[in-house]
Amino acid sequence: MKRKALLIDVLSTLRVEKGLIGPLPAAAQMTGIIEDVGMPFDVIFAIAQEDGTVDTIIDNRIIPGIFESTLKDISPDIVLFISDAELVKLVSDVQTKAMSALPDAVFCISSIIANALPDLYLDAGFDYILGQDVFMSLTELLTKINTDTPPEKGIIAIPDSRETLDHLPFVSKKFFEKLKPQWTLANGDLLYYGIIFGSLGCTGACSHCPNSNYWGTVWKPMSAERIVAEIEYQKEFLNTSLFYMGDINFCPNKNNAVKDLTVHPKAVERIIRLDTLLTEKKLDAQFITTIRPDTISHLAEHSPDILQKLLKMLRFVFIGFESFNNCVISGLNKNITKDMMKKAVSVLEENNIPIIASFLVGSRYETWETLTETENFIMEELPSSTIPLLNIMTPFPGTRLFNELKQNGGLMEEDISLYNAQNLVFKHPIFTHEQLKERIESFYMRFFTERFTG
Ligand code: SF4
Repeated sequence: MKRKALLIDVLSTLRVEKGLIGPLPAAAQMTGIIEDVGMPFDVIFAIAQEDGTVDTIIDNRIIPGIFESTLKDISPDIVLFISDAELVKLVSDVQTKAMSALPDAVFCISSIIANALPDLYLDAGFDYILGQDVFMSLTELLTKINTDTPPEKGIIAIPDSRETLDHLPFVSKKFFEKLKPQWTLANGDLLYYGIIFGSLGCTGACSHCPNSNYWGTVWKPMSAERIVAEIEYQKEFLNTSLFYMGDINFCPNKNNAVKDLTVHPKAVERIIRLDTLLTEKKLDAQFITTIRPDTISHLAEHSPDILQKLLKMLRFVFIGFESFNNCVISGLNKNITKDMMKKAVSVLEENNIPIIASFLVGSRYETWETLTETENFIMEELPSSTIPLLNIMTPFPGTRLFNELKQNGGLMEEDISLYNAQNLVFKHPIFTHEQLKERIESFYMRFFTERFTG
């Protein structure tokens, strides 16, 4: 008899409250793999609440009180979790409820933290941890479970040497049956979007970055042809022209070793090809994705024609500015300058592309003065449509930064549920956790008061 799988995608409670119902692209991609293996499956979107309860999202509405009974009704043989680094606590809350509802099921997780601290996760009841390549490893696990020859419990990490993601199956239509990924605009309008797992890895290799540490520092793109084919497929049932390209970096630099500001040739080639295909097919499609400010300023200076093609495709961009102080930025080992940031902002503003601007506050070189510089940049230089996100620098387990701090006794917290970009978990030369938290909260208060009252 064929086994049944359940994928539980834990959404960020904070983001859902703000109207961003954004499933993880890797979770979406996993459903294509499960379908490809031929295993029947279901998907649950879960929200962990502060009182310890777990809600479920159905038809984009939060439904309390049915999580455990739904799990029992589905009664899966294997339960799959995938987690972004900062969702550790939320995933752990959901996992506890799921394990008590399904005591006989096999539990599996894919996350950088689980890979870094496998004993913690195996002791917490997980049977399998997926390492890279996640999709190959998942295929292997499900195939073996389906044939009643389950692998030995522990980490499954089957490498994949292929340089593209074109072999990946499309995200399953079933992934979108209970939820349409949703973006709420400031005026209350709702935008629905599809999801495409457009590439894997980032050449940036930043020491604090959980994403490149987990997904790798070699950029493996899905080709323009494969992306367009999936856009056409998702358009058949999603009725949208907006797609979240779940790349951790849509357009990375070519070389990580020398921090060379040269855009990856495969990324340039993909932009050109995407532009051609979308035009030839008269396909109405725009993207939400993540790009670095130095990439935009570099293209503006050296390849304005490529930049124009890229801008045409973008509806919103996530940009990691991290800081507006040169010393802090170079402390993060980034070759970005304030001029590059200003250039990127002006290009995006001229093209009416709103920015979700993320900043990493509280890194080792941060001071009260550098924080003020960043705050002034947000208040004075970013367009009014920008959404700023101030994350506290977190040495996520598995990153080089974590290993360095652990080695020299710099970590203050053992409890990994506090490693969520909202807490200062390492010894800082200037700030305490409370001081930094208070500063961020008062900044948000000032920002939103000024934005909404003029
Ligand atoms: S450039 Fe961004 S995505 Fe790439 S490694 Fe650095 S922080 Fe991570």
